[in-house]
Amino acid sequence: MVASLLTVNNVHKRFVTRRNWLGKPLQTVQALRGVTLQVQPAEALGIVGESGCGKSTLARIIMQLDTPDQGEVLWQPVVDPNDDKTTGASAINLCALPAGQLRALRPGFQMVFQNPYTSLNPRLTIEQTLTEPLQVHGVGNNAQGRRALAEALLAQVGLEADALKKYPQAFSGGQRQRIGIARALALNPKLLVADEPVSALDVSIQAQILNLFKQLQAERQIALLFIAHNLDVVRYLCDRVAVMYLGQIIELTDTQSLFERPMHPYTQALMQARPIAEPFLARQRRDGAASGLTGEPPSPVNPPSGCAFHPRCPYAVAACAQQVPPLAQVNAQQGHQVACIRAHEWSEGLATRV
Ligand code: SF4
Repeated sequence: MVASLLTVNNVHKRFVTRRNWLGKPLQTVQALRGVTLQVQPAEALGIVGESGCGKSTLARIIMQLDTPDQGEVLWQPVVDPNDDKTTGASAINLCALPAGQLRALRPGFQMVFQNPYTSLNPRLTIEQTLTEPLQVHGVGNNAQGRRALAEALLAQVGLEADALKKYPQAFSGGQRQRIGIARALALNPKLLVADEPVSALDVSIQAQILNLFKQLQAERQIALLFIAHNLDVVRYLCDRVAVMYLGQIIELTDTQSLFERPMHPYTQALMQARPIAEPFLARQRRDGAASGLTGEPPSPVNPPSGCAFHPRCPYAVAACAQQVPPLAQVNAQQGHQVACIRAHEWSEGLATRV
């Protein structure tokens, strides 16, 4: 088995939202509470959940744009998806690296941002935007060589070479996101972290950008960590999906298993909100075995005790308010992991409302 390209290990993050006049914290938000996951080489992993569940904080910590309070982000720079000899090579904890060493590894993991209207510098031409990272990391022999690389990048994302001399303002949102993707690809990364990259675009453009991600991921064999709030987007793009709720991963499995047999009550409720028919869900709805989400998400300032979903869960029992359910495997063949103390009942089809 090939080593994981990226391992996020028990990451916690808390933000101070209010301080007193001495600067002492008065109120904090628990953005991430013990997140653990792995990304394999060349796989597409989706992260889904409601706004404020910690998805973007997780992306920023993976990209080292934020530091975790606890936990580590391990990067395996030499892993090769076609070479199992890379198994066992030692991974590097990005969170503990000095700035210079981190900078040297940065070409391996790049980010596509949510808003293409703010992520490109309006004062730089597209040529400057694309050749800047090449210059910083010493790629290309000279300006002419880097220009040729920039032209090739534009071609890969479906734009003409004459875009190079223009400024971002000359392009539509979809075209700007293509340029953002080209910039993220410039240093030939092994991992692309995309934080809701289509949510700011018109619906008619979203499918084109999703197709581009799918095509590039297949052609370049890069790993993709794709953050979205739309389940159907990750279903289209991703091999596996992690569902987050209030700073924790509550379900993680391959995409087919998640959509055919969601086991966590929160995932089931998210599925119910989708406007498409699924045989398993249709049966659940008909039997009244799951309800949609009720109530507002609890405040991350003061998350509920035990299972954070228990105030909204139709299956909650007394123990749910006391025990924090770990993310545990319920199906060894599919590696289906669920954080629910009643998960084995779901897997055996015994679930009943209390
Ligand atoms: Fe619902 Fe309890 Fe499972 Fe949480 S642990 S999802 S409250 S049944």
